[in-house]
Amino acid sequence: MQPSLEKLRKFFNLEAERGYSNDAIIGGLAKMLDYWEDEARQDALPEPLIKAVVARLRDYERLSPESRKEALHGLWQRIKRETGAAESSPKSQQKKASSPPRRERTAPKPAAQQHPTGVSSQQPAALDAPLTVLPGIGPRNAKRLEGLGLRTLGDMLYYFPRRYDDYSTLKPIKDIWYGEQVTVIGQIKDIISRPIRGGKASLTEIIISDGSAALRLSFFNQPWMANRYAVHDTVAVSGKVEQYLGRLVMNNPDIEPVEAKHLHTNRIVPVYPLTAKVTQKWLREKIAAVVQFWAPRVADPVPPAVLKATRLPDLSTALLQIHLPDSQEALETARRRLAFDEIFYLQLGVLRQKRDWQQAIARVFEVDDDWLEARLKALPFTLTDAQRRALDDICVDLGAGKQMNRLLQGDVGAGKTVVAALSAAIVTRAGAQTAIMAPTSILAEQHYKNFLQLLTRSDDDPAYLHPREVRILVGNTPRAERRDILAGLANGSVKVLIGTHALIEDPVVFKDLQLAIIDEQHRFGVAQRAALRQKGNNPHLLVMTATPIPRSLALTLYGDLDLSVIDEMPAGRLPVQTYVLTPRERERAYTLIRKQIEAGQQAFIVYPLIEESDKSNLPAAVEAQKRLQEEVFPNLKVGLLHGRMKPDEKEAVMRQFRDGEYQILVSTTVIEVGVDVPNATVMLIEGANRFGLAQLHQLRGRVGRGGGEAYCLLIPEHEDAAENERLQAMAASNDGFYLAEQDLKQRGPGEFLGTRQSGFSSLRMASLTDLKLIETAREQAAAIFAHDPLLEKPEHQLLAETLTRFWGGGQGDIS
Ligand code: ADP
Ligand code: MG
Repeated sequence: MQPSLEKLRKFFNLEAERGYSNDAIIGGLAKMLDYWEDEARQDALPEPLIKAVVARLRDYERLSPESRKEALHGLWQRIKRETGAAESSPKSQQKKASSPPRRERTAPKPAAQQHPTGVSSQQPAALDAPLTVLPGIGPRNAKRLEGLGLRTLGDMLYYFPRRYDDYSTLKPIKDIWYGEQVTVIGQIKDIISRPIRGGKASLTEIIISDGSAALRLSFFNQPWMANRYAVHDTVAVSGKVEQYLGRLVMNNPDIEPVEAKHLHTNRIVPVYPLTAKVTQKWLREKIAAVVQFWAPRVADPVPPAVLKATRLPDLSTALLQIHLPDSQEALETARRRLAFDEIFYLQLGVLRQKRDWQQAIARVFEVDDDWLEARLKALPFTLTDAQRRALDDICVDLGAGKQMNRLLQGDVGAGKTVVAALSAAIVTRAGAQTAIMAPTSILAEQHYKNFLQLLTRSDDDPAYLHPREVRILVGNTPRAERRDILAGLANGSVKVLIGTHALIEDPVVFKDLQLAIIDEQHRFGVAQRAALRQKGNNPHLLVMTATPIPRSLALTLYGDLDLSVIDEMPAGRLPVQTYVLTPRERERAYTLIRKQIEAGQQAFIVYPLIEESDKSNLPAAVEAQKRLQEEVFPNLKVGLLHGRMKPDEKEAVMRQFRDGEYQILVSTTVIEVGVDVPNATVMLIEGANRFGLAQLHQLRGRVGRGGGEAYCLLIPEHEDAAENERLQAMAASNDGFYLAEQDLKQRGPGEFLGTRQSGFSSLRMASLTDLKLIETAREQAAAIFAHDPLLEKPEHQLLAETLTRFWGGGQGDIS
């Protein structure tokens, strides 16, 4: 046996003896790659095999012990097969992995720029070859291509066209009609340039012909056109067909030179994103050569059964057709397949993450039914069925001995706080600690008040906490108090800590944190969420959000979390009366505001953020506040809140408004989600056409929290019927989830993606508006996961490798 293989065998055996704990070599198995690759080449091992070993070992550390065992075993089988290496395979099989599963706190995040084929046991190793292996690409061109993210042949396969020029459906010039928007191709017959209007302007006319007829193109004030083109050039021209003196003409059309050869092929021609000094023609040729040779040789990681069930083409076909489509249909099918892949890998990764989490052992909290019923009876209201279901979900999680990872979703005002408080009660009842993190101190204060009310009694009732056991920690908590709180957390006398990100800062040490709750989770960065969890030892995790995300999308975005949805409002809540007004009806809105304020209420007036490239560069709200205060509501106090203000300035204004110092608050969309101003009954939204329905709904949720009648008035910038039509959905529905679905259909998923940064940067083909495709990909991923979660079956080997590659090496946290 070659020395390099002998080494592998030795270390694989050692690993097996040690229960696959990755300590056969100090620093982990991957350390041996430092020298092994070279040795293997000296031993003349087949290159694909070397690559496979490297890929496997590099990811070894990230695998669970079971997967490690499988990985080494599979690798050795292959080595035996391909090199005829000695029979002495790694022993091991009987010995069970003994170390507990490693806690995965962070999930790898998809590597954005990598093509998911490449280094793997079954893919051609050449896909990883540098582009300089291609004729005509030397170091200089390679460098330019690197600017496009192209380093290897495999990268080229996955460098998708930006758009296509469809020469297969071109019309001959004789068949075009006046008024039509068309693209035609022809040869330049004549170019005439002359001054017009007494020399104040110029007119360049280009006559083209495609053999069927001639067409006159007129370019005004573009004298350079005469130099850019020459007689006999072939050009593609797009524009609107007009008439001049009985002849068809095009005025200032888009014009581009074309390569004559496409004319005769009737092809759909790919157009790639370019960089300086790389021409379309050159790049297209290089990519076409790679695609034609290599696409058919790519192995498909997606199992045939999945392709059959989804009626998608195989990967080779998809890659060929995405670059060199035979027809629009073939192109569309290819696009679907490649989009499917992205979501499919994403889902498999998310499922794997979830599984790892589910393996994490966590403390069991039994819920005593009588105790819970008594607590519920003591509430000032009865929980809605939806709240009850969410609470039951949480009770099951807390009692299961596994770490809870639950997303609690509920429309604004649906009553998430009480569910969170009861969860905290379950945990503190057993003597452990709970932390609640909110994005701003004003929200933290609000929670603090609610939690005091829901969780504490000052009369030493043993069923409740004492108020001193529930504390709040924010940025400006006085020093002495902070010291007191920190001491209480460390010795366990403080049971519930509510706060801002101040509570993930260093000196905060919990004695026994068992439940971490994060409110408005999308307001926190990945690192902050992870930091809170790390304050405890596998604490249960509850994250809450008021952003209604359509279920299909939620399952994709948050597939690693269990989902509870509070989809029902507490009884007796009046829907906010919503009206769409035209700009000319603005005075009516002001009248309503005056009336409400006379009755002792308050109003919000929200302006969109508009990039004002001209003068002031301040948000529209700034100017508006001045005008409203001086001209419209001179007798009232009008406050101002916008994103350029410092956090404590913002908080101060919000607090003043809450306390009634302003009757009207003019603001950009920064109004804190979740802050209760029970007295606010009017929400006027200017430039409403610029907002998504989901966001409008969020804003609308700021009013009517006091229980009485409340109003939402939407004023779009124009009297545009189509816009107003869209906004009418707001008047028709009070259901955040319904509106979110509408939004998703109309405007795409952008607004929801903000709620989850990781993972989606790598989607190049997939459009998250294609709910059907998303659902299909999710179902297929779940089906595979259900019977082969570790992707150990031989038919899933390539899939496993591709998945590892897709999720790359980066670190990201999923919750
Ligand atoms: P959100 O889900 O937006 O965080 P909150 O938890 O702040 O909503 O609840 C909004 C208001 O509804 C609070 O004043 C709360 O006391 C009240 N509330 C919660 N649940 C119920 C219920 N089942 N019946 C009546 N009022 C409720
Ligand atoms: Mg809330």
